[in-house]
Amino acid sequence: MAAGIVIIGGGMAAARACVSLRASDYRGPVTLISEEAVLPYDRPPLSKASVTDSGDPDPIWLIQPDTLASLNIDARLGLAADRIDRAAKQVLLSDGTSIPYDKLLIATGAKPRSLGPHAVILRDHGHALDLRRRFLPEKSIVIIGGGFIGLELASSAAKLGCKVTLIEAQPRILMRGVPEAIARIVHDRHLAAGIKLLIGTAIAEIGENSVVLKDGRVIEADTIIAGIGAAPEVRLAQEAGLEIENGIACNSEMQTSDSDIYAAGDCCSFIHTGFGARRVRLEAWRNAQDQADTAVANMLGERKPHAAIPWFWSDQHDLSLQIAGMPDMGPHVVERRPAESSLILFHLADDGTLMGVSGIGVGNAIARDIKLSEMMIAKGMKPSPDALANPAVQIKSLLKG
Ligand code: NAP
Repeated sequence: MAAGIVIIGGGMAAARACVSLRASDYRGPVTLISEEAVLPYDRPPLSKASVTDSGDPDPIWLIQPDTLASLNIDARLGLAADRIDRAAKQVLLSDGTSIPYDKLLIATGAKPRSLGPHAVILRDHGHALDLRRRFLPEKSIVIIGGGFIGLELASSAAKLGCKVTLIEAQPRILMRGVPEAIARIVHDRHLAAGIKLLIGTAIAEIGENSVVLKDGRVIEADTIIAGIGAAPEVRLAQEAGLEIENGIACNSEMQTSDSDIYAAGDCCSFIHTGFGARRVRLEAWRNAQDQADTAVANMLGERKPHAAIPWFWSDQHDLSLQIAGMPDMGPHVVERRPAESSLILFHLADDGTLMGVSGIGVGNAIARDIKLSEMMIAKGMKPSPDALANPAVQIKSLLKG
């Protein structure tokens, strides 16, 4: 009898792989091993609605508990995968049992960096519930890190009437991956919401209820939050002797250095053939879905390179920021102002190919143009810079080439 497919992880990539396997008519055994005691749930709401909404704080399930039986998934929840025995092709669990595999998918995600015991982190639904209890009107919340977690939580805390201070060590927020002009709009919106931004500010020490800055200032806090980035969770893969390079190293088919082991999501890097065969690691929700689909197809015998265009979004206050493609591969930037409160930047390579697009606007103001631009990126198009810059020219008309 076939040993089947084993998936390690409890996030989007793991959940999507389960669903995708059954949607692909795979009938063999599927085992999901997750350290969390519950089925995989959606994480983007954790910094937003899970903290702010007055309604039911239940997780948004990615696999509904009542569909588990029809999917025929053997879910081993609340159990850690301790070791991968590649020679015997089995995963050893923390309860002493072992599960054999024909193919294994590692989707272990990324682990938040810690700043010690006095700074809380946000990784799971329990953390979001904890923040919900802490974000009361007039409470002082100090957030360390001006990345996505920090800024989204700052927005949520301000909405609930907290006094928020955000500390970023770099010379500006969103230094990694977000163009300066867009980060400036985000910065100004946070200031307008009454959030104090301490930029280019290093911390010296974190106490139970205070943060001491390198310049000697002391910031009192009811709650201190660390949002200083995440490191790919590679322990299992590393101990099993798989190649590691900025995460678990995969080829373009999401296959690791062991041909029977695949990886997907934040834990791995891969060769993106659509962008000059460059090795990248993407920490993003849709990427986790797309990579799980690619890994499943290839575990089932296809030889499909992962070609999906990277895309992510962040909602803060009334603004939504979206980035698609690889903006850092397009040194020539064309600016478009569809409305006073919206900005879209197109990132073109030397030969005029559209490599990336980034935009910001109120609500879903820029969503459609970003989607259409993503389609141009996928087609490798070279749209006219003048047309891109002119808001009177519809992006849709440029797609026709
Ligand atoms: P992040 O986006 O990498 O941002 C962390 C920020 O904190 C960076 O600007 C970093 O600067 C800064 N930083 C690092 N050490 C610091 C220190 N000691 N003092 C002050 N600032 C410091 O990571 P994150 O916001 O923690 O998010 C964690 C994960 O959740 C990521 O995978 C992220 O993509 C994901 N997430 C995504 C979304 C979204 O896509 N909308 C929303 C929430 C979370 P350096 O660059 O110099 O390190």
